[in-house]
Amino acid sequence: MNEHLINLLYLLAASLFILGLKKLGSPATARGGNRLAAVGMLIAIVVTLWDKQILGVEWIVAGVVIGGAIGAWRARAVEMTGMPQLVALFNGFGGAASVLVALSEYWFAPNPEQLEAWQMVAWQGMQVDTLATIGLSALIGMVTLTGSLVAFGKLEGILGGAPVLLPGRHAINMLLGVAVITLIVLFAAGPNSPWAPWAIVGVVVIAGTLGVLLTISIGGADMPVVISLLNSYSGLAAAMTGFVLNNQALIISGSLVGASGLILTRIMCKAMNRSLVNVLFGGFGTGDAAAGAAAPKDGGEVSIREMDAEDASMVMENAKLVIIVPGYGMAVAQAQHVVRELGDLLEKKGVTVKYAIHPVAGRMPGHMNVLLAEANVPYPQLFDLDDINDEFANCDVALVIGANDVTNPAARHDTASPIYGMPILNCDHAKTVMVCKRSLNPGFAGIGNELYGMANCYMLFGDAKKMMTEVVAALKAGD
Ligand code: NDP
Repeated sequence: MNEHLINLLYLLAASLFILGLKKLGSPATARGGNRLAAVGMLIAIVVTLWDKQILGVEWIVAGVVIGGAIGAWRARAVEMTGMPQLVALFNGFGGAASVLVALSEYWFAPNPEQLEAWQMVAWQGMQVDTLATIGLSALIGMVTLTGSLVAFGKLEGILGGAPVLLPGRHAINMLLGVAVITLIVLFAAGPNSPWAPWAIVGVVVIAGTLGVLLTISIGGADMPVVISLLNSYSGLAAAMTGFVLNNQALIISGSLVGASGLILTRIMCKAMNRSLVNVLFGGFGTGDAAAGAAAPKDGGEVSIREMDAEDASMVMENAKLVIIVPGYGMAVAQAQHVVRELGDLLEKKGVTVKYAIHPVAGRMPGHMNVLLAEANVPYPQLFDLDDINDEFANCDVALVIGANDVTNPAARHDTASPIYGMPILNCDHAKTVMVCKRSLNPGFAGIGNELYGMANCYMLFGDAKKMMTEVVAALKAGD
């Protein structure tokens, strides 16, 4: 294929990636953005396969059809609650692909001894920068793969949320880090020495171990930061592989994923009021403070007040302002549609309804925005933490639906709490707080919530969808 045409098509693909990313910035345009970026990726894949003559047309078409069908099936079949785990796995697969491609470039490089004389003229051997990039690709790719597998295990509930803090873990990690860099340098400096293959295998093994060690030491509450960081790593690994293959499309798309992942990591750090260094090395999120049910501020007896659906509907219909606070439990219960119906009904009765979105609510960045957009909640009714937090003091009802950690006042004052310092939604400042969840069980951070013992708080015990359906029925019955 003509080189200019190839570069032009790569430029088109890169432009589509950038436009797609831009559109992902708002729920209103996100779907279109996703489609644009997907078209860009299709162009990049087909052009690369065609250009490099890796496969015949029939194989490319067969791959696109089969791969596309599997992707479409997974995307349709996955439950909304399984999405964060799926995303973690995708990140890991991205890292694995980078490792495999980089290693194959080294392993299957022509052996100079077997080349004909005329081939030797063109073959100059692998340059030191290519070899160093192969090493870095193996390092970042493996950390992404094993780190993402641990994140998958935590999100799926296979591994506990509490961090595993090995004695002397900082020294161990430091030692492994130095060892892996030394091996990369040795590998790049002496690719023809007999131990070079062992050096790169060592990089893979040590990087895989580092990925596990770095991720298991991070507690449940800090996982959002880690997930966005792993996302960024998967992009960096792909960009490295792009340099190995000298493929512009891979360099550009990898850099875009790496950079946007880093921006997301920064947003998540800000949302949790943590520095990245603290999350990665500080052993935050120890999950051992006030574990279990609701924890009172003063450590005394907790008295829990309950409310039924009928009373809840009466209080809300007489309110001026109701702020709905969705959390992970709303996703589990798939209650977003009935919640929107409740919001609509209240608005019809003259009540102002707003939705307060905490940046780490749910199990993936933007989880609540995605759910509420799926239920067609009007975008102007959604408010970020900073924009709505002062309004709780003037609102009659804060209706918390399956949210827990993001409402826990312990984050403000309990220095022993794993969520200490994280900005929370000020639900406790509302005149009345109603919390819909099934029990007093803790959320992802594994700690009790002192909100539930407060004098203005009432529990609506039950599955969020069932309970909200009952509240809606009670509201309709009162018409
Ligand atoms: P939490 O995990 O704190 O709490 C969710 C609550 O939902 C649980 O306490 C549970 O209580 C309740 N629940 C579960 N199923 C149902 C149901 N069917 N009906 C009603 N309630 C239900 O969620 P938050 O959204 O408040 O906080 C998110 C947490 O996840 C934070 O700790 C955050 O750091 C972490 N995290 C966030 C990520 C992100 O990117 N957003 C990624 C990884 C972790 P019960 O069992 O009593 O019903």
